[in-house]
Amino acid sequence: MRYYSTNKKSECVSLRDAVVNGLAEDRGLYMPERINKLPEEFIKDLDKMSFQEISYEVAKAFFGDDVETDALKKIVYDTLSFDCPVKNICNKIWTLELFHGPTLAFKDIGARFMARLLEYFIRQESQQIVNVLVATSGDTGSAVANGFLGVDGIHVYVLYPKGKVSKIQESQFTTLGNNITAIEIDGVFDDCQNLVKNAFMDKELNNSMKLTSANSINVARFLPQAFYYFNAYARMKANGLTDNLVVCVPSGNFGNITAGLFAKEMGLPICRFIAANNANDIFFNYLKTGVYEPKPSIQTIANAMDVGNPSNFARIYDLYEGSHERIASMISGATYTDEEISNAVKQCYNENGYILDPHGACGYQALKDLLNTNETGIFCETAHPAKFKDTIEKIIGTEIKIPQRLADFMKGKKQTVNMSNDFNRFKTFLLEQQ
Ligand SMILES: *Cc1c(COP(=O)(O)O)cnc(C)c1O
Repeated sequence: MRYYSTNKKSECVSLRDAVVNGLAEDRGLYMPERINKLPEEFIKDLDKMSFQEISYEVAKAFFGDDVETDALKKIVYDTLSFDCPVKNICNKIWTLELFHGPTLAFKDIGARFMARLLEYFIRQESQQIVNVLVATSGDTGSAVANGFLGVDGIHVYVLYPKGKVSKIQESQFTTLGNNITAIEIDGVFDDCQNLVKNAFMDKELNNSMKLTSANSINVARFLPQAFYYFNAYARMKANGLTDNLVVCVPSGNFGNITAGLFAKEMGLPICRFIAANNANDIFFNYLKTGVYEPKPSIQTIANAMDVGNPSNFARIYDLYEGSHERIASMISGATYTDEEISNAVKQCYNENGYILDPHGACGYQALKDLLNTNETGIFCETAHPAKFKDTIEKIIGTEIKIPQRLADFMKGKKQTVNMSNDFNRFKTFLLEQQ
């Protein structure tokens, strides 16, 4: 399969190049040239298959031409070493729990898949070591570092702003060692991002070492997210609840929901989607007005969705050929203030005994507000509430138990390299690692 750029100003590329490049030369996002439909019998028998079996079939539809069958199967099975179950919350509202991976957030799935796919391509070419550079304000760093941990032929450098990441988040990428190096930068997130951007543009650096990004817009992180929508449908089918299914996705960069839209294009019978936003309401406003107007992001308690210019809007726009009418008929929007998010967490805990995280809370509330009586709704619970322990405990007034794997990270020894935000210093450091 070839991959084209949403900006349509650069050449189509192979899967390998799309994965290694991340972004197209014209700064557009890569899209697969086709979305293959899965056979109706497959959909009919979904409830008889396991999460891994289902995902392997979905993976073949995208990557089957480019990755050998056995290798692809191993990549999918290794990626999904944990479950993504659905659970009933109340009446017609269900949750799809995406936090059972190593860092307790849905980004684990895309990051683990991308790491293994990249390893596959590196092996084939027996190239020099590939260095993944990632700037993080918290969550991306942990998912990427853990996704790539111990993967042969790859070294990951995680850059993060000193003192600006929570202890829980920090422990998830600074205690790993092995092929993961955490670099603590004197500065803010933008400094980290600038260092990474400058590194990608530096000729000398790129001539002496292979650099790549594991940005969330990478097709290898984005497409595998379709797996768990198929799984959610399969598990709902086992409950006899697939009529008028609505999927609600707490959205920031819109990668997760776009993967759901792809699943629908592949033939998954989902009737419509809801994009639940925090106070960053750019997409919500687009649905209302037809005008896409990026804004500076606003800080909220659902901080992984604090995005003022969602990158995957370009993919949604391309998928529906720029038709506002088609987009608005497929996706509804919702937007919530921090106070409304807190109230949703509190209400859900008091009435259903279920502890939401601030992102999932937007999804839950949007279903409460927008689900019609003939519909069944599933919202994605994108992170475990323990990742936002202080915020959530303050809201519900009860202590949250920290899952063992998170507690284990916090026991680990922090290993970091301290650095100023000076690019030449960073460059020298990278060159010295060769
Ligand atoms: C990244 C993230 C989101 C937003 O997902 P997008 O794919 O960027 O829309 C939502 N919730 C959590 C917990 C996240 O980490």
